[in-house]
Amino acid sequence: MAVVPPRQVAVLSLANYDEVVKTGGRTVGEAALESLRNLAVTCGVDPGYMRAMDERTLLLRLDELPHKEFLAAIQGMAAKTRRLAAPTIPDLMLKVRVGAMSERALRSLVNDAARDLIAYMDHLDRRAAFLAGDELDIWQQMGSTDVDIISHEQLKYFDAFTGMLTTERFLDLLQYAIDDPHRPESMAILYFDIDDFKSYNRTFSHEDGDDLLLFVASQIKEAFSADVMAHLSIDRFAVLSSSPDIVSKCAKIHAATRAFRLSFAPEVKCGIYMLMDKTVTPYVALDCAKLACESIKGRYDKTYCYFDEDHKDRLFVRRYVAHHAERAVADGWIRTFAQPVIDTRTGELCGFEALARWDDPERGLLAPFVFIPTLEDARLIHRLDVCVVDTVCRHLSKCRAQGLSHVPASINLSRLDFDLCDILDVISTLCDRWSIPHELLAIEITESALQEGSNLRVEIERFRAAGFEVWMDDFGCGYSSLNLLKDYEFDVLKVDMEFLRDMETNVRSKKILLSVLEMARNLGIRTLVEGVETKTQHDFLLEAGCDMMQGYLFGKPGPLELGL
Ligand code: C2E
Ligand code: CA
Ligand code: CA
Repeated sequence: MAVVPPRQVAVLSLANYDEVVKTGGRTVGEAALESLRNLAVTCGVDPGYMRAMDERTLLLRLDELPHKEFLAAIQGMAAKTRRLAAPTIPDLMLKVRVGAMSERALRSLVNDAARDLIAYMDHLDRRAAFLAGDELDIWQQMGSTDVDIISHEQLKYFDAFTGMLTTERFLDLLQYAIDDPHRPESMAILYFDIDDFKSYNRTFSHEDGDDLLLFVASQIKEAFSADVMAHLSIDRFAVLSSSPDIVSKCAKIHAATRAFRLSFAPEVKCGIYMLMDKTVTPYVALDCAKLACESIKGRYDKTYCYFDEDHKDRLFVRRYVAHHAERAVADGWIRTFAQPVIDTRTGELCGFEALARWDDPERGLLAPFVFIPTLEDARLIHRLDVCVVDTVCRHLSKCRAQGLSHVPASINLSRLDFDLCDILDVISTLCDRWSIPHELLAIEITESALQEGSNLRVEIERFRAAGFEVWMDDFGCGYSSLNLLKDYEFDVLKVDMEFLRDMETNVRSKKILLSVLEMARNLGIRTLVEGVETKTQHDFLLEAGCDMMQGYLFGKPGPLELGL
């Protein structure tokens, strides 16, 4: 049987469903939806034409009604929602949205259109709205004051998931604000980001992740109800605010979010950019707030950060790097530095880690934290990594040809290398070209790269099957290190230097370090501790039976061509 698309659809939705459930429990929530059903019946809707879209929304098909009656029914419902109390809790008023969609407006799927419409009404705190297609005229003729008429065009401004504005619309409004000669003195752009949201999703479920996002969105909406706000991407939000107490509002959002799930205590960070410069573009302004926010990622002592001069310099360098990336790779600005790795038992050199440097003709040597994230953003990071592998292979080949002693190298790979090229194939080809046995190269993959959702297990197994060792870098600085050990096979565990840093003042760090080393031994995985700077640390690791060490005590990274 062919499905006849509905010509006229209305929605009745409880805007304060969460509050209703919080006050009276789920049964009161269900009863509230039931009162909406009754309300629709009293307005002449046949119960056979109602269906629950979700726990807070009813979808009503009114295709039988002539247009005018349809309109009257909607207006009737809108009028009756004003004083609708929750059943069994008379003090609690139900906040009801009444929406309607005409035939022409139903171009998209009914449910999607309904969800967009509700999100729109929630955002603007409107009681009733009509999503019109090309029939705007009829509605305008009706002169209805109770019902807002909105177009598909307007709906596109809203993100259906959170009901906030889309990034595009936000940037448009930001442009208006920048150009507005009468805008308030202190206007700020706030950029919110949830730290480690990916881990949260991994640790719990995607539904839990959605709940957290909606919770943060609701906190932002509550705190900045008078301001313009947008859902930028998964776990990022922006607000354009002239509120005088931004900082206390951010602190409130931060505290509420931590309490949302105490076992994880999610952190919402906020970057703030004060809008002073009239020549700034919306993109740059938002980028400045973003940069300020990124600068406190992972820091437990800071919840917000104003954009300042330091950030400005960094933004400048980031742009510079993005613009010169191609050239840096092509013109040999990327240099390979090497840092010695020591065999703990013998105290002898047993390998080196290859570390990239950007040797800039104008700015001198740049450290990886300056250019690696930018190259990743520009999806050029594989070019740099291949460049480093090539230099390492040439170096090893030269040593072998001249009969010089040489040790294996480890190279750092970015998660994106696996997406941007067949990195195993590229590395194998370079090894063949320079006649380098695969045992001389190990790849380092950080724990965070493995956490980013995708499954690198197959890739890691391919590397190991091809005779390369695979090392896990920065072990212990993320949330799921132990899970990863269960799921992936590594040859070496590189323990994050933070444990060592703390060791002398924090007995627990010392104990954790000892346990990690023992666990790796039991699993048959070799260990390397990074960041060894003192004799005390060295002696401790020797006694603890760690296999390899790396750190300033044995040597800082230096140009590979100068040897180790
Ligand atoms: P990583 O792989 O954890 O590298 C270790 C970093 O710690 C290096 O910083 C090294 O110079 C530093 N380090 C070594 N010993 C000590 C010590 O005793 N004390 C202290 N305080 N630091 C020490 P670097 O070279 O700045 O590299 C930073 C990060 O950049 C690396 O962290 C790695 O994740 C990334 N990186 C470096 N080169 C490359 C590359 O060629 N490709 C990719 N994809 N990433 C790279
Ligand atoms: Ca590394
Ligand atoms: Ca490391």
